[in-house]
Amino acid sequence: MEIFDTHTHLNSDEFVGREAELIAAARELDVTQMNVVGVDRKTNNWAASLSEKYDACYATIGWHPDECAEFDEKAEKYLLTELSKPKVIACGEIGLDYHWMVRPKDEQERVFRRQIQISKEAHVPFQVHTRDALEETYEIIRSEGVGVAGAIMHSFSGSLDWAKKFVDLGMMISFSGVITFKKALAEQEVARELPLDKILVETDAPYLTPVPYRGRENQPAYTRYVVEKIAELRGLTVEEVAEITTANARKIFRLEK
Ligand SMILES: [Zn+2]
Repeated sequence: MEIFDTHTHLNSDEFVGREAELIAAARELDVTQMNVVGVDRKTNNWAASLSEKYDACYATIGWHPDECAEFDEKAEKYLLTELSKPKVIACGEIGLDYHWMVRPKDEQERVFRRQIQISKEAHVPFQVHTRDALEETYEIIRSEGVGVAGAIMHSFSGSLDWAKKFVDLGMMISFSGVITFKKALAEQEVARELPLDKILVETDAPYLTPVPYRGRENQPAYTRYVVEKIAELRGLTVEEVAEITTANARKIFRLEK
């Protein structure tokens, strides 16, 4: 069995010096591949170098809405160059965060749009972070358009109706440990009802630790518990959900079998 953690931050200070150990621990739970996601210049470089160092790791690079002040012409050039590397598989995490509102809305929107355009130019999918901004996020993606490479809503949080709207734009929906939380009934419904060929799994480690480890540090290995929850919700085996979600990940990231 092979599980693909499509969104993790192994490039975090929390994990320094433990990367090989965490990759081995993931393998123990059949999490054999992981996509390491950057949020700013430092973590983008870091993700790319982890992808070069470890077979199990791929990299996604981009500027998170909280970090969009850093996004300048140099960053645009960097993105275009790096996105052509074989193990740099997507642009992200990009999007809107109106919850923390670290940067003004207009700046977040401009940087989000520009990175969608660049990912389409580079023929790679883009991976979207959105918080308290579903409607605005939807409008931007709809107006820019999802390219042939597709796009992903990461750690989706919202109703089934919203999930379907993003799927209709040509996107995949990725589930994190949030679906294991008792109160996450809306997210569980989405994980139960969406077409199987549209779903992905992730940890967003070190954040969003799933049950049974909620409250402790998250790690890529725990993608296993997200897969188990989806299997339970859909009446499938863990192996079936692993196989489908890994095939979906490899398809959108265009990785050879
Ligand atoms: Zn993240």
